[in-house]
Amino acid sequence: MSLNRLFRLISSALLMLFLALAVSLVWIEWNIYRSSTSTVPALKTFRQGLVAMELVSIERGPANAFMGARDDERDAFYQHLQEARAVSDAALADLYAEVEKDPSQRNAGILERIRIVQQAMGPARAAVDRIGWQAQDQRNHLYIVSAVDGMIDVIPMLVRVTGELMASIDLADPDLREGLSGARAAASLREYAGQVGSRFTAPLIMHRRLDQNEVIEIGKLYGRIELLRSLLKGQLASYVSQPEFAQGLAELDKQYFEDGFEFIDYLLQTGLKSGDYGMTPAELRARYVPRMKVILDLRDIILDDLMERVERRNQQARNVLVLVIGLTIVACLFFQLLMYMIRKRVVRPLVNATDLVVGLADGKLDREIPAARYDDEVGGMMRALCVLKARILERNSLAREREALIGQLQTSSNTDFLTGILNRRAFFAHAEQQVSAAQRYRRDLSVVLFDIDHFKRINDSYGHLSGDAILRGVAQTASQLLRKEDVLGRYGGEEFIVLLQESDLGKAEAVAQKLRMALEQKEFDADDGRRIRVSASFGVAVLRDGHNLEQLIKLADTALYAAKEHGRNRVEVSAER
Ligand code: GH3
Ligand code: MG
Ligand code: MG
Repeated sequence: MSLNRLFRLISSALLMLFLALAVSLVWIEWNIYRSSTSTVPALKTFRQGLVAMELVSIERGPANAFMGARDDERDAFYQHLQEARAVSDAALADLYAEVEKDPSQRNAGILERIRIVQQAMGPARAAVDRIGWQAQDQRNHLYIVSAVDGMIDVIPMLVRVTGELMASIDLADPDLREGLSGARAAASLREYAGQVGSRFTAPLIMHRRLDQNEVIEIGKLYGRIELLRSLLKGQLASYVSQPEFAQGLAELDKQYFEDGFEFIDYLLQTGLKSGDYGMTPAELRARYVPRMKVILDLRDIILDDLMERVERRNQQARNVLVLVIGLTIVACLFFQLLMYMIRKRVVRPLVNATDLVVGLADGKLDREIPAARYDDEVGGMMRALCVLKARILERNSLAREREALIGQLQTSSNTDFLTGILNRRAFFAHAEQQVSAAQRYRRDLSVVLFDIDHFKRINDSYGHLSGDAILRGVAQTASQLLRKEDVLGRYGGEEFIVLLQESDLGKAEAVAQKLRMALEQKEFDADDGRRIRVSASFGVAVLRDGHNLEQLIKLADTALYAAKEHGRNRVEVSAER
């Protein structure tokens, strides 16, 4: 696999992995953010539940007052009661509407329970109305107790509703559990504190002592209140470092558990002894209800703190989410940039450099080596490649020069410097090969040896330089007449030799005659401008079986000698055939 492809594969695999990690991280943070976002309205609904419970509980005050009203007070008290009823009805309706917004399975149960409370309120209120509109002296102790109980009995259903509302928040954010339980405990404490007051309604109206059941009931409520007090303190243990909680708890102890309880204790003592309380339910309410306000204050401190914490968490979760998304995008871009840089500055130059090196090894020296763009290792490699290419080019040119020199040397060592044809040594080297090949393949091979006639005289008459010029002219004339495969050499002084391939004596003789005639007819220029004519004598011999070059030339030489003897400017053929 090519480096480029491998890199592409690895970088896309890494990118996938990276994206998968990034997406799961964003997904986790998104879920944290979403759950913290849903906690805010859930906490608001929970608060509405507690407030609805409080208002239904508060409605008992005007109800009790109405049941204990003197005939002249009735209308005003009833008016007051109706206002309280409208408030608690509105609170329940609001709660219902809020819960209805989330049509999940759990909420269907909560809605059902709110409806049950709303329905139960009808008969409970009717019982209160019946007693309230009766003449004072006709009011019956048992009916009053039963009407008070009817109003109290709707509360446990609302306690369940708040429990269920709390559970859904607890599921989303378990850290809020202590605070939620604390708020709920405070609400329940307010309820039981209210119930203690309500238990005195019937005795107050009837101006009688507490009966056995009422004493037991109030005792139970005392127990529950004490239990809730310690529960609340336990749950808020981790909060007391905050001044408003410490102060809230201190106010609770003072205003309710000291002053409030002192008042209840007074009523209890009176109820056990004389039954002469000296106050109506409305007066009880006016004196007792303000003492319970600290309980609700504490509840609100807890709820405010919870809301603040939830909103802060939501804000934090959103910040973290935005940060994670931002970082993921930046990291993605950075990763892409990194891959791009590696590809641009490492992989691609490396692949190119490999191509170039392979090209250089294959001798493709025409390819341009790109200039080093960066002062890094790859740049260094490119520069080194340039040097390498320059060295190869230099070496190649040196090699070519050397080869040319060798060629020149070879030519000059084989060439006769005066005439430019083969010198004696080179002719012999050539001729030896051809003689042995001709012997091996039984081919005809002839030799023509010729010598310029009376050359000494020419030298003497025209000068040595003119003699040289004639030697050059003779060699040139002979070369022009001969075939390409014939080998012409300077045998010595003014003697020349020709080796004729595939030529028997007849053909060789014809060649010799042609040469002779050509030389005879040619005019050469002397040094001083005079025209010179020369002639030459020729000896021709053919290679015989078993003869070597030396013997062949000897025969030709003998024939040449004969030509000189027989008058020159003629051709003699070796007698030995
Ligand atoms: P023939 O062959 O006809 O018998 O007479 P010749 O005058 O040619 O006889 P010979 O072979 O004795 O003389 C050859 C002369 O050629 C001698 C020498 O001065 C001359 N010669 C040999 N080599 C050269 C050369 O390179 N240049 C010149 N100018 N003369 C040369
Ligand atoms: Mg000679
Ligand atoms: Mg001669």
